[in-house]
Amino acid sequence: MKSDVTYDLLIIGGGISACVFASKYLKNNITKKIGLIEIGRGLGGRSSTRISKKYKGWKLNHGSPNFNISNSKNNLLLKRYIDELLENKYIKIDDSDIFFLNEDSDLETIKKSEFSCGVNYLSLDSMSELSKKIIESNNLKEKIDYYFETLIVDMKFNDKEWLLTSKNGDKFKSKYLICSTNLLFHKRSLKILNVNQIPLRKAIPINNDKKIDLLLNCLEEQTFIPRLTFLIYTNENYSYKDYSKKQRYFYLKNNLEKKYRFERIVFQPQDNNKLGIVIHSKNAELINSYLGAKDEEVLKQKIITNFNKLFEDNSVVHKLTFDEKISIMKWRASQPSGLAVPLSLQFSRKYRIGFCGDWFEGDGFGRIEGSILSALILEKKIKDLIK
Ligand SMILES: Cc1cc2nc3c(=O)[nH]c(=O)nc-3n(C[C@H](O)[C@H](O)[C@H](O)COP(=O)(O)OP(=O)(O)OC[C@H]3O[C@@H](n4cnc5c(N)ncnc54)[C@H](O)[C@@H]3O)c2cc1C
Repeated sequence: MKSDVTYDLLIIGGGISACVFASKYLKNNITKKIGLIEIGRGLGGRSSTRISKKYKGWKLNHGSPNFNISNSKNNLLLKRYIDELLENKYIKIDDSDIFFLNEDSDLETIKKSEFSCGVNYLSLDSMSELSKKIIESNNLKEKIDYYFETLIVDMKFNDKEWLLTSKNGDKFKSKYLICSTNLLFHKRSLKILNVNQIPLRKAIPINNDKKIDLLLNCLEEQTFIPRLTFLIYTNENYSYKDYSKKQRYFYLKNNLEKKYRFERIVFQPQDNNKLGIVIHSKNAELINSYLGAKDEEVLKQKIITNFNKLFEDNSVVHKLTFDEKISIMKWRASQPSGLAVPLSLQFSRKYRIGFCGDWFEGDGFGRIEGSILSALILEKKIKDLIK
C-alpha cells in the first residue's frame, strides 16, 4: 500500500480542471491535506507539453496549444478567474496571427472556429507549466501529495470512505473524491483499464443514487474524438516570413481538411530560437494509416509532402525538408462529443464524490473553458459541505 494516510480529499487526474479545483479548494481549506493521482508523468493532461528527451531544448504543446474563452453567458466566476490568471501573469492575451485556409489556399483572416471564438489566451510558459502554476499558487504549506504514473483501475465506497486501487496494487483512501476524468465511468474503461465492469457502476450499484444513475446514462451517449498530433522539430535555419516570437495558427476549411487531412497547423517559436510545428489531424483515414503503418517513416514523409503542397504558393510559410525530425502523439480521446453531462449532476452528497472536466454542458464543452468553469462551479458547490 502506497499510502496509509486517509486523505480529506483525493483527486483523480492532473489536467487543468483538477489543478483549478485543487487550487481553489486549498485556498478555502488551508488545513486540509489532499492527494492527486495522475497516470501521466506530470500535470497538464490534454493541455500539456512534450519536453523531448531525444531533441534537447524543445517544448512543444502537443495538446491544446492555447485556449479561448467565449463566456457568452458572462459568467462572473469565470470572468474573475481569468482576470486572476492575467493578473498573476500566468497567461496573456494571445494576439498571434490566425489564418483560415480556403480551398485555393488563399489566406483569410476571419476569426471563426470552435478554438478561436471569444478571446484567446496563451500560457506565459508552456501549457504544462500553466497547470503547475495554477495548482501551486495556493499550495503554500505543501498540502498536496502527488502520485504520478499511477493509474486507478478500481474504486470502492465503504463506510463513508473511498478506497481506490491502482493498476500496480497501490491503495488510496479518502473521505471525499473528485474525478476530473470520466474514464472510470465510461464504457471505454472496459478496454483501456481491462476491467469487466465500469468502475463507478461497480462502486455504486444501480438505484442507490439517482444522480449517479443519470450521470452514467448520460455518459453512454458521450463519445470521444481521436486525434493525432505531428510534432515537427525543424532544422536550424527553418523560419517563416516576417518571423516574430508569436505563434501562428492555420486552420483548414472543410474541403481542404479532407484533401490534406490536416485540421490545424500551429507554429510554436522555441526558446532556443528554433521553430516547432504541430499539425493536428482528426482524419480517420490518417489515424488508421498511422495505426496500420508498417513503416512510420513513410507516414512522416507523407506529412511533409502534404505540408509542402498545401503551402506551395504561400509566400509566408517556407517548405520543409525530408530530414526534419517528427514525432507523433496519438490522442485516443482528445475531446468529448455527443451528449454533455448537466452540471446539476456534478456532486453526490450521499457518496461524497464530485466531478469536473470538459465533459460538462456549456459553451466550453470539449474545451479548456469548460474544464475551468466546471472546476470553479464544483468548488463553490462543495465549499460549505466539506468543512
Ligand atoms: C490535440 C488537442 C487539441 C486541443 N485543442 C484545444 C484548443 O485549441 N482549445 C481548447 O480549449 N481545448 C483544446 N483541446 C481540449 C483541451 O485540451 C481539453 O478540453 C482540456 O485540456 C481538458 O482538461 P481536463 O482537466 O478537463 O481533462 P484532462 O486534461 O484529460 O485531465 C484528466 C487527467 O486524468 C488523467 N487520468 C484519466 N484517467 C485516470 C486514471 N484512471 N487514473 C489516473 N489518472 C487518470 C489523465 O491522464 C488526464 O491527465 C484540445 C485537446 C487535444 C487533445
